[in-house]
Amino acid sequence: MIIGSGPSAWTAAVYAARANLRPIVYEGEPSREMIPGGQLMYTTEVENYPGFPGGVRGDELMAKLREQAVSFGTRIEQQNIASVDLGRHPFRLKPNYTEEIEALTVIVASGARANWLGVPNEERLAQMGGGVSACAVCDGALPAFRNKVVAVVGGGDSAMEESLYLTKFASEVRIIHRRDSFRASKIMADRVLNHPKIKPVWNSQVSEVLGYDAITAVRLENTVTHEMSELEVGGLFIAIGHTPNTAFLGGQLELTPHGYIKTPKAWRTATSVDGVFAAGDVMDDYYRQAITAAGTGCMAALEAERWLAHHGLGESPVLETAEAPVRLTAEWEAQ
Ligand code: NAP
Repeated sequence: MIIGSGPSAWTAAVYAARANLRPIVYEGEPSREMIPGGQLMYTTEVENYPGFPGGVRGDELMAKLREQAVSFGTRIEQQNIASVDLGRHPFRLKPNYTEEIEALTVIVASGARANWLGVPNEERLAQMGGGVSACAVCDGALPAFRNKVVAVVGGGDSAMEESLYLTKFASEVRIIHRRDSFRASKIMADRVLNHPKIKPVWNSQVSEVLGYDAITAVRLENTVTHEMSELEVGGLFIAIGHTPNTAFLGGQLELTPHGYIKTPKAWRTATSVDGVFAAGDVMDDYYRQAITAAGTGCMAALEAERWLAHHGLGESPVLETAEAPVRLTAEWEAQ
């Protein structure tokens, strides 16, 4: 069972299907907050996914990945998993609308969603490629932002990182922050404050995004004086954190302090529950790229395959080697 529909889920499905593990992907259903396909569905042009020298649209890439998984026999259910019981094996999962199902192994690839401000016009422009984005690394290099004044919202490390990245393309970067000091690490904040192209806009909150086909400005409210003003910008990057999609797990997998699924061993996708694996943005708060998500999806499927073989549950031969044991020995762990 694979839960999710981003690059990690479809890559896991391709590997699992080719290994005759007969995967079922619960790809979710459209809601106000999420659409099947995940965060790439909110991106216009993807220029950094290897294999597409001319770039590829986010939704087109997801459709191709899905098609590839289906071509090897992956079955797809268009609903969310509402709850899970990982306390006994086979694991039990309850989809939103249908009967509970049993799974021998589960790959959680349910992603994370970028937090949005929730102000008028923000989501509409983000979805239509109108210059509003929650990922500077994904979208910042697009021609639309070149030599423009762009704004970043947030005061954490992500906002610092995105602002510094954007200085490569934009003529000026304004960081809009609701307080008068950054939460980010000192080194990152200093780098930003000393950068000639970056100017902070302190004590300010975006109350509305302006523009019809593309962003033209943001309406700002001063959080101290409550005065309103407008700032003309050609792009807006929201960097106010991410929320991993883990609520349906009901606390049955260990999470990191930031709420991501914990994968205790380096270079492994195994979670705190034996037989459950995690891949993509739901376990990665560091890289958050389509290609790294796809990579961890591949890892999770191979690990699941080995785990099943080890327990005599799959059709694959046991792929266990001394260098890569399925069950980690004390000796291996000590390395
Ligand atoms: P974060 O540290 O939680 O910062 C979120 C920022 O957004 C805060 O400054 C917060 O303001 C602001 N914010 C939150 N909700 C808002 C709203 N509704 N309106 C306006 N502003 C809002 O998130 P993050 O920057 O994504 O970082 C998450 C974690 O990853 C952190 O531990 C960070 O250190 C780490 N990280 C590290 C690196 C790096 O080391 N290179 C890069 C990226 C992230 P307040 O400050 O007023 O609360």
